[in-house]
Amino acid sequence: MDHHKAPASRHLPATLLASLVFVAGCATVGEIDSMGGSEFQKIRAQTPVSDDAGLRAYVGCVADAIIAELPEPYAYRNWELEIFDSEEVNAFALPGGHIGIYTGLLAVAGNQDQLAAVIGHEIAHVTEQHALKRYNREAATRIGVTGVAIATGTGQAGADLLGMATSLGLSLPFSRGEESEADTVGLHYMAAAGFDPRQSVALWQSMEKNSKLRPPELLSTHPSSEHRISDLIAELPEALATSNAARAAGKDPQCRR
Ligand SMILES: [Zn+2]
Repeated sequence: MDHHKAPASRHLPATLLASLVFVAGCATVGEIDSMGGSEFQKIRAQTPVSDDAGLRAYVGCVADAIIAELPEPYAYRNWELEIFDSEEVNAFALPGGHIGIYTGLLAVAGNQDQLAAVIGHEIAHVTEQHALKRYNREAATRIGVTGVAIATGTGQAGADLLGMATSLGLSLPFSRGEESEADTVGLHYMAAAGFDPRQSVALWQSMEKNSKLRPPELLSTHPSSEHRISDLIAELPEALATSNAARAAGKDPQCRR
C-alpha cells in the first residue's frame, strides 16, 4: 500500500534544486562570458569552418582594426574569430570575446567598410552588454515558471524548463532599442578605425534588398526598424568626422580579399 507516495519529481535532489535556482537567477558578467564561450564552442562543433586562408586574413584584418578601437577591457581581450563556411547571411559576437562570420554574409557585405559596419555592430552588442541585460530581463520569468514546475511536480515540464534555462538564448532577437544602440556604437567603432561610415548605409540597403529574395538570418536576430537607415544617415556627419580624424592620424585599413 503506497498511495501516499509523492510523484518522483517532488523528490528533486537538493543539488538539482540548487542548480535550478542558479540557472533561473540573474547572471554576472563573468557567468555570461563563460556561457558565451560554451555557446561559441557548440556552434563551432556544429558548423563547418572555412579553410580559405585569404578570406580568413581579410576578415581578421577588419576585425583587428575595430578591436584596437574598443574601450577597456574589450580592446585588450583575446578575441576569437571564426569564419563559418555557410550560405547563411549571418554574423554574431558573443560575450567573452567571440566573433562568428558566415561566408554568405560576404556576398551582401561587399567591401571592407561594409564588413566593418557588420563587425562593429556585432561587437557593440557585446560592449553594451546586451546579452547580459536580455538574460537578466528574462530571469524573472524563468524563476516564476521553474517555480511552478517544481511546485506542481510536472517532471517533464521541469526538465524542459531546465533545458530552456541553461540555454543562453543567444539566438533570440535583440530589442529595437538595443539594435539602435548597436548601430550607433558600432558606427563609432568602425569610423574610429578609419573605415568609411557611409558604407554602413549601403550595407543595410544591401541587406534589405537581399531580404526580398531570401530573408537574411542576420535580420531574425537583429530586427530592423524602418528608421534604421535614416537614423544612420543622421549620424554620418559625426561619424565621418571621426573617420577623417582617424585617417589623418594614419589609420587607413587596407583589408582586401
Ligand atoms: Zn544587432
